[in-house]
Amino acid sequence: MIALEIRDLNVWFGHAHDRVDAVRGASLEVMQGESFGLVGESGSGKSTILRAITGLAPHWSGTINVEGQPLSGSRRDRSFFRTIQMVFQDPYASLHPRHTVDQVLSETIHLHGLDNIDKRVAGLLDDVGLGQRFRFRFPHQLSGGQRQRVAIARALAGEPDILLLDEPTSALDVSVQAEVLNLLTDLRKQRGLTYLMVSHDLPVIAHMCKKLAVMRNGEIVEVMSSETLRTGRPNHEYSKQLLTASVAPHQ
Ligand code: ADP
Ligand code: MG
Repeated sequence: MIALEIRDLNVWFGHAHDRVDAVRGASLEVMQGESFGLVGESGSGKSTILRAITGLAPHWSGTINVEGQPLSGSRRDRSFFRTIQMVFQDPYASLHPRHTVDQVLSETIHLHGLDNIDKRVAGLLDDVGLGQRFRFRFPHQLSGGQRQRVAIARALAGEPDILLLDEPTSALDVSVQAEVLNLLTDLRKQRGLTYLMVSHDLPVIAHMCKKLAVMRNGEIVEVMSSETLRTGRPNHEYSKQLLTASVAPHQ
C-alpha cells in the first residue's frame, strides 16, 4: 500500500514580484512501512514539501494523497493528525519552556481524544528510552537529545502511521545523533511506521532510508535506492556531486 503519494506538487510563497516557487513539479511515493529520504542543499525545498503536507505552507497545487485520501487546501482535521505527525529540527523551539514533560504528553494525548493518559505517558517515556525519572522535568532540565526524545514521544502520542522528520538530529551534538537515529529506526520497525525524512546529510539518509529523492532548486532531480547511492552510481550529475561532497567534504 502507498502511504504517501505526491504528484506534480508546486508550492509557492508570496505573490507577484515577491513570489518564491519553493517546490516545482515534485512527485514521490512512500510505501507503507518504508523510510524515504529527501536530501539536498539548504533552500532546495525539502522542508516546504513537508510543510505543504501538514498544512503549514498554504499555497500549493498538485496532488497529495495520504493513505489514499487526497488533501486539499491547508486545513487538516483531527484524523489527519492521528495519521501523520511531524518532528522538527529544533527541540528547543518546539517544546513549551514552562510545561513539564508530563504536561506536554498528557495534553497531547488528551487532544487526540485518547484515554488512559497516565499509562500512555509512562509507556511513551519508556518507548523513547527516557523512562519515568524524566516525567516531571522541564525542557531546560533536559539535554538536546533528551528533548528530541520528548518531541518524538509527543509525535507518537496519537499513534500515527506516518512521521515527517525534518532534520531530526541536525541540531544535536554529533555524539547523540546516532542514538536518536537508532531510536527512530527501532520505533519504525516496532510500530510499522512510515517515514518521510529530510536531511542535508547524505550519509544520514543513506543509513536511515531505503529510497531517497535528491532535490535541487525546488525540483526532484533523481529518485534512487540507498543501494544505488552506496555503490556510487547515481545517474544525475548533481547527485554525483552531492555524493562526492559528502564523502570528501574538505577537499
Ligand atoms: P530546505 O528545507 O531544503 O532548506 P526550504 O523548503 O526551507 O528549503 O526553502 C525552500 C525555498 O523556499 C527557499 O528559497 C526559502 O527561502 C523559501 N521559503 C521557505 N519558507 C518561506 C516562507 N515562509 N516565505 C518565503 N519564502 C520561503
Ligand atoms: Mg529545511
